[in-house]
Amino acid sequence: MVAGGRAPAAVATAASETIVRVLVCGAAGRMGRQVTQAVLAESDLDLVGLCDVRDIPAEVRQEAPDIAFGSDLAAVIGESSPEVMVDFTDAAAGPANILAAIDAGVSPVVGTTGFSPDALEQIATHSRAAGIGAFIAPNFALGAVMLMRMCETAAPFFDHIEIIELHHDKKIDAPSGTAFQTARTIVDARGKPAIDVPTEKFTLNGVRGGDYHGVKIHSIRLPGLVAHQEVIFGGLGQALTIRHDSTSRESFMPGVLLAIRKVRSLDGLVVGLDSLLFN
Ligand code: NAD
Repeated sequence: MVAGGRAPAAVATAASETIVRVLVCGAAGRMGRQVTQAVLAESDLDLVGLCDVRDIPAEVRQEAPDIAFGSDLAAVIGESSPEVMVDFTDAAAGPANILAAIDAGVSPVVGTTGFSPDALEQIATHSRAAGIGAFIAPNFALGAVMLMRMCETAAPFFDHIEIIELHHDKKIDAPSGTAFQTARTIVDARGKPAIDVPTEKFTLNGVRGGDYHGVKIHSIRLPGLVAHQEVIFGGLGQALTIRHDSTSRESFMPGVLLAIRKVRSLDGLVVGLDSLLFN
């Protein structure tokens, strides 16, 4: 079902501020709803479409009564002519949504996590061939990006490194995309694996966590949590702990809005918020 719809094409305001037309995919979900509110609050962004395979709650549609919505992404794109599609769905649905957006000339901004390396490669190839800017961030929180930068600095000086990531109990994938990316960043910065401290005897299986080139990753899922990560570097007579806490989903919005504004100027696929902040 597609309802509403507006005239296509970007418009310029009196102050010649360019308005970006935005579609939110996964609009009935926790992140999609937050993004919808964040886009509605920005004067240079125009929310033109909402897509979800579930019903989009009436209160969400009431906030933006005039826009296209529905469960068929191609139809909502056709109806609303967005320039940017924000995707917060799931690892199974995300790649197809992204490829469909690129095929329609729409730049994707993606927060969905858990994509396989093959899916990322396919998106990169597709966006490059189409000449469409695309952006994926495993974590849109500025503080999480800073944490990764600090880990990159510390990693060459400590041989023993463990990551504890803590998320709400509804998160379906583990480890978090951020924890995986942090482990990759640490190993790349070291140029060699971390050193796993051997355990001689296990009285319970699995207690040492997952292993990425010697970096142990422990995933905690509990109600009451949002998104948190602690990285502990162990050295001779000292330990360094770097921690970041997202205490509400609002923490991701400044990063999402930055990506919406920049994605169309990117050359093919760019991964990671640090690429937008530091380049
Ligand atoms: P959620 O389950 O609340 O929402 C996902 C929504 O996607 C659901 O409403 C679902 O119906 C919809 N959906 C599924 N398949 C679809 C399809 N084919 N087309 C349209 N809609 C579809 O999940 P959430 O908590 O909002 O998280 C969504 C994703 O965002 C997860 O992968 C999560 O790990 C990730 N996430 C990323 C960040 C970040 O900073 N990058 C932050 C938080 C969450």
